[in-house]
Amino acid sequence: MSNLASLASIIKKENLLKYSTGEFSILKKKLKKNLFTEQNTSIYKYSLYSKGKLLYGIAKTGRDKYLFIASREQFSVLYSGKIEKVEDIYIQKVSFSFENAELLKKDFPFTAPISLREKKTTVGCGDRLGRCSAGHIRVAKKFDFYPVLAQQSIRELNFTKRTYKDVTSDVVFMVFQEGYEKGYGADGDHLKTLADINTALDADMPMITLDLSEVMNPAAGDYASDKINAEFGKFSPTEQERIITSFADKSFELGDTKITITMNEAKKCALMYTTALDFAKEVDTHLKNRRGSKYDLEISIDETTYPTLPEHHLFIIKELLYRGVTVNSLAPRFIGEFQKAIDYIGNKQEFTKQYKIHCDIAKAHGDYKVSVHSGSDKFSVYPPIGKFTRLKLHLKTAGTSWLEAVRCVSVCNPGLYRKLHKKAFAYFAEASKFYHITADLSKIKDIDTIKDSYLPRYLIQNESRQLLHITYGGLVNDGEIREDFFNTLTDHEEELYAILEKHFTKHVSLLGIPKAKG
Ligand SMILES: [Zn+2]
Repeated sequence: MSNLASLASIIKKENLLKYSTGEFSILKKKLKKNLFTEQNTSIYKYSLYSKGKLLYGIAKTGRDKYLFIASREQFSVLYSGKIEKVEDIYIQKVSFSFENAELLKKDFPFTAPISLREKKTTVGCGDRLGRCSAGHIRVAKKFDFYPVLAQQSIRELNFTKRTYKDVTSDVVFMVFQEGYEKGYGADGDHLKTLADINTALDADMPMITLDLSEVMNPAAGDYASDKINAEFGKFSPTEQERIITSFADKSFELGDTKITITMNEAKKCALMYTTALDFAKEVDTHLKNRRGSKYDLEISIDETTYPTLPEHHLFIIKELLYRGVTVNSLAPRFIGEFQKAIDYIGNKQEFTKQYKIHCDIAKAHGDYKVSVHSGSDKFSVYPPIGKFTRLKLHLKTAGTSWLEAVRCVSVCNPGLYRKLHKKAFAYFAEASKFYHITADLSKIKDIDTIKDSYLPRYLIQNESRQLLHITYGGLVNDGEIREDFFNTLTDHEEELYAILEKHFTKHVSLLGIPKAKG
């Protein structure tokens, strides 16, 4: 028996070939269940679309997930994959490759990532596993924001051994699976070179987060005034004069915020940021050449040692605008600590005060989004973040979805969770070279003393959350973990989506994002 027999049988039994896309949308609303299932095969309800005489959908047979195209008549399309005749239906099984994703984007443009320049509230939901986006989408359907579903840094790609093309095509098929038509973004995160930016652009990512940390000169922040004057004297006389007239000993009123920049600070900023600002201009021009106006440039200065002073934020945005750079969002480094996987550490009142100033600067300079990196799980500061940005913001989350997948494993496959938990300690030392966290691992209770039903508690405790959060690279590639891990997520897909949906709903609710209309 062909392994498409069950699929053909569902198509016939449910009469799926007779529906138009319009009729499908009525059916999707009416039907309570998400899946049509027969034996080992399921069709995802929201993925059903018709185009001419062809039926499109996503199905899963056993653990094998694929796009299918079906028709009563013979057909030929550009997708790669064999067409089989099963009883009286022709079915093509199409794999989730980048090339097939490109074709699907042409047939169903809503599956392609778009620029979110004009969208007010955007949330980055990086999915390191290529399995979590449906959970994010289910929240995006219910609330008034746009998700950046694909979002990975080079560091994450190295750790997970994926490419940007893997990342974007996984998302394309997931968007189709969920029939999510509202639009979404894709972000090449924390990119530092034109070569890496090109790799992200080649994978059709409209958003580029330009990390300026390597082209900034933070050392100048500690120069004595003699050295500042000497170094500043190396700029051309016209440039020196321009910086001085624009900034030195000037006060700037931004709403009820007043920022004064001294002569010394103005010169210091020029020394710290000029090379970085020129590079941002070069990148912006490059993006314009490659994508016209269909891109989102985020300027990231968060991966530095010191919090971004409001004077510096102001200097940077004024100089970016002077150079004509299109800034969609900007990520300062905030005071306090935004450590991975846990709530904000620091003085919340002081944070709120400074955060408001960053928002006032943004509002007065084209109203770009103030971007919050390592933004997941910072529940206690979401209310002021939502309030002072008036929800004109970009929030980035990444590893939290990996942790929710681990939570799913702790519930659905306790044996595997135990193995993974123990191995995380072995991978910790290496991983902590790349992530700044302060967890005291001795506070984590010995897992051999914990009952299965209590394992999910490790996903509540800060110390174990951080341990599990940063060791994903080692864990996901571990020969004793990898296969069982992905199989567990496949076998418990609906549980995984439900866990993610709950977690992200908490994020967007606390930010104050309203429910979607209609
Ligand atoms: Zn960042």
